[in-house]
Amino acid sequence: MSWETITPPTPIDTFDSNLQRLRDSFETGKLDSVDYRLEQLRTLWFKFYDNLDNIYEAVTKDLHRPRFETELTEVLFVRDEFSTVIKNLRKWVKEEKVENPGGPFQFANPRIRPVPLGVVLVITPWNYPVMLNISPVIAAIAAGCPIVLKMSELSPHTSAVLGRIFKEALDPGIIQVVYGGVPETTALLTQHWDKIMYTGNGAVGRIIAQAAVKNLTPLALELGGKSPVFITSNCKSVMTAARRIVWGKFVNAGQICVAPDYILVAPEKEAELVACIKEVLQERYGSKRDAHHPDLSHIISKPHWKRIHNMIAQTKGDIQVGGLENADEDQKFIQPTIVSNVPDDDILMQDEIFGPIIPIIKPRTLGQQVDYVTRNHDTPLAMYIFSDDPKEVDWLQTRIRAGSVNINEVIEQVGLASLPLSGVGASGTGAYHGKFSFDVFTHKQAVMGQPTWPFFEYLMYYRYPPYSEYKM
Ligand code: NAD
Repeated sequence: MSWETITPPTPIDTFDSNLQRLRDSFETGKLDSVDYRLEQLRTLWFKFYDNLDNIYEAVTKDLHRPRFETELTEVLFVRDEFSTVIKNLRKWVKEEKVENPGGPFQFANPRIRPVPLGVVLVITPWNYPVMLNISPVIAAIAAGCPIVLKMSELSPHTSAVLGRIFKEALDPGIIQVVYGGVPETTALLTQHWDKIMYTGNGAVGRIIAQAAVKNLTPLALELGGKSPVFITSNCKSVMTAARRIVWGKFVNAGQICVAPDYILVAPEKEAELVACIKEVLQERYGSKRDAHHPDLSHIISKPHWKRIHNMIAQTKGDIQVGGLENADEDQKFIQPTIVSNVPDDDILMQDEIFGPIIPIIKPRTLGQQVDYVTRNHDTPLAMYIFSDDPKEVDWLQTRIRAGSVNINEVIEQVGLASLPLSGVGASGTGAYHGKFSFDVFTHKQAVMGQPTWPFFEYLMYYRYPPYSEYKM
């Protein structure tokens, strides 16, 4: 069934009136009330919770993803995000006093007031369609901003369920869901927003940034990139590294923004690593890894399937496990694939893989590996370091500017509401999750004041012209 049948595109000629409705609602000031924001968030949480079965079913239809995986990687995070925001919102909306240097400022009471930015546009992708849509909605409501949400057309079953949940749970004055593809997103981008948050690939990120420039609209760009994994000579348990990498790479068929994209392994550990990965794959998925496997997700669309298929067909590396055997275009399935001895100019080393393939690049020293990353794939969204030498870990962190770093573990940094999810450079700008979600749609207004007593005015007289009087 086509996405247009499941989520018919929202007519573009309704966009102006919908935006005006949200602006009018913002101007009533109802979102200024923290009680109102909390009531909306609680209602949304209960509606979300009541619909969990529908959500699991929809994600399985979109991605053939096992229910448990959706619970583990999306629903538990969303639950924590709701509880963190609901628990702390009264604290976050308070004015924050800042240091007073005294002197002429001694009565100024300088402080920062968090104020909502206004009506925001959020554009999301398909790979984690539950958390990537619910989290920005939580963020916007928490910050007091009405939101227009454009979900990805590539995960229509999940979009349809979430669209219904938002409609049933929330005041129509604070959210408008837009269904559609490129024409609808392009039309949305011609309107004037108080902030745009885009999650997706860097090529479209550049289109969004160009549209935002016209109105000087502030942007949060949550993009991707090639996230490296280092397994150094100081990694004590290559088997532990293999277990974690196999999990973090092959959940959701590798369609994860922070997925380990490629491995840089110490030359003396490479053979052990390949052997461990093979063993772990066998232990977890058995030897029949095909489209009917209940624990392996599928690729989201045929164009993405063809892109990944093409990479495997064209790689110059050695396919150690997986490959094109059992690849199924109708089912959009590719089995977990490990490729070793991958040269720098290989097709696997050009762009983010975003699929179930992990290349191990040709062996070299740690210094050469760092040079390779900084020269070719600078500022990745994430970096993973398997090493039991804290000095080495620290050195790698100072050499490579990554959005996040996880030591002896993969992808879990995204699940911690107290840590920001954020890229750097080409992997994005602007953070969210937990308190950062509140901040992303909040302006930090600088506030101070001065007394109007005649004596204070007398003290401040020195600053007024004519300056010549003070020059003697
Ligand atoms: P996608 O194709 O669903 O695109 C994302 C959104 O952009 C969709 O709503 C889509 O309708 C819209 N869009 C697509 N083409 C457009 C165009 N030409 N003009 C205007 N809008 C357009 O998703 P995707 O980009 O394939 O998502 C995968 C990418 O997202 C990967 O690079 C991944 O790393 C990144 N990602 C990043 C994060 C993060 O938090 N940093 C999270 C998830 C995914």
